[in-house]
Parts: sequence; structure tokens; C-alpha cells
Amino acid sequence: MADLKDVRIRLVKGAYKESDEVAYPDKEDVDRNFLKLAKQRLLADTFTSIGTHDHHIINELKTFVQENNIDHDKFEFQMLYGFRNDMQNKLADEGYNFCTYIPFGDDWFGYFMRRLAERPQNMNLIVKDALYTEDNKLKKGPIVAAAAVLSALALWGVRARREKKGD
Ligand SMILES: Cc1cc2nc3c(=O)[nH]c(=O)nc-3n(C[C@H](O)[C@H](O)[C@H](O)COP(=O)(O)OP(=O)(O)OC[C@H]3O[C@@H](n4cnc5c(N)ncnc54)[C@H](O)[C@@H]3O)c2cc1C
Repeated sequence: MADLKDVRIRLVKGAYKESDEVAYPDKEDVDRNFLKLAKQRLLADTFTSIGTHDHHIINELKTFVQENNIDHDKFEFQMLYGFRNDMQNKLADEGYNFCTYIPFGDDWFGYFMRRLAERPQNMNLIVKDALYTEDNKLKKGPIVAAAAVLSALALWGVRARREKKGD
């Protein structure tokens, strides 16, 4: 990492399973090392993008930034589009530079699906995000939308059956 001290980087926990020779096998070690590297970068002079959806890490880094008087223009938080929208908005409202990673181009959908599939936990987290708020309360919007779609399907089914019978 010292070699990259003058290079602008995005720090992430790799999503792919790698061999023990090049990656920490235990998540605790990954998290500890991510924090260590993020803090080193925040104290250095080069801009760093901190790409994580992990609120434990984000909260610890916010405290670190405050305690060390680190200028907000030296770093930004990044998250993938559709993940933890409430937290993305909150960080921006709190005055942190924030960047949302959005796939675009002709094959954006295929790319996005591959990114989701490469890490099965991502699907669980997307569903959780769609249904629950950050403080684990059930969101009303998706439930109302699902109820409306189910009612429309039921009505359509009844009408189709009547038409078939010639009522
Ligand atoms: C902009 C960006 C680009 C990336 N590019 C790459 C890349 O090119 N290659 C690559 O290998 N990896 C990449 N990653 C990393 C990858 O997508 C995952 O973010 C990473 O592997 C998982 O680590 P994490 O810190 O996000 O959270 P995790 O370590 O998975 O989660 C820690 C904890 O945070 C909470 N949490 C996390 N996400 C959510 C959520 N959506 N909803 C609710 N709670 C949640 C949970 O409590 C979880 O236990 C990128 C990430 C970002 C943000």
C-alpha cells in the first residue's frame, strides 16, 4: 500500500473468494485490515474513495475523521446503486462527499445482474433494503404496491374466467 501513497484509489473488501495466499480467509481479519488501510489513507495526502456498505466501518471512520480533523475533501464514501439508500442520503446530508456507483451503457442490466450474482448475500441485502428501513421497520410502500398488484391480478383472473364462461 505504501507504493500507492500518491495514487488515488477506491478501497473495497473484494467480493470474490480468493486463495489464502492472497486474501484473508476470515471476515474479521478482512474488516480489521480494511479499517487499518482506510485510516492510513485518511492520514495521507492522497484522495481515497471508501467503498463499503458496512455501517460499523463507516461509523468508526466518521469518528476517526472527526478526532483527527481530517478535511472532508480528502475522501468520499461510495456505495453501489440500490444498496442502503437511506444511509447514502444520510451521509450526503451530513456533509460527506458521497458517490453512488451506477452501471450504465448498453449492457448495464447484464453487468448489474452479474455483480449481484457474484455475491449471493447481495440478493438478501437488496430484498432487505427494499422491505425494511435502516432501523429495521417494515416499509409500507412495497407492501401497498404488492397488495395492489395482487388485487389487480385477482380481478383480472376473475374477469378472464367470466369471459371464458361467456357471462
Ligand atoms: C463502489 C464499489 C465498487 C466495488 N467494486 C468492487 C470490485 O470491482 N471488485 C470487488 O471484488 N468488490 C468490489 N466492491 C465490493 C463489494 O461490492 C462489496 O461491497 C464487498 O465485497 C462487501 O463488503 P461491504 O463492506 O460492502 O459489506 P459486508 O462486509 O458485506 O457487510 C458488513 C455488514 O454491513 C451490513 N450491510 C452491508 N450491506 C448491507 C445492505 N445492503 N443492507 C443492510 N446491511 C448491510 C451487514 O450488517 C453486514 O453484515 C465494490 C464496492 C463498492 C461500494
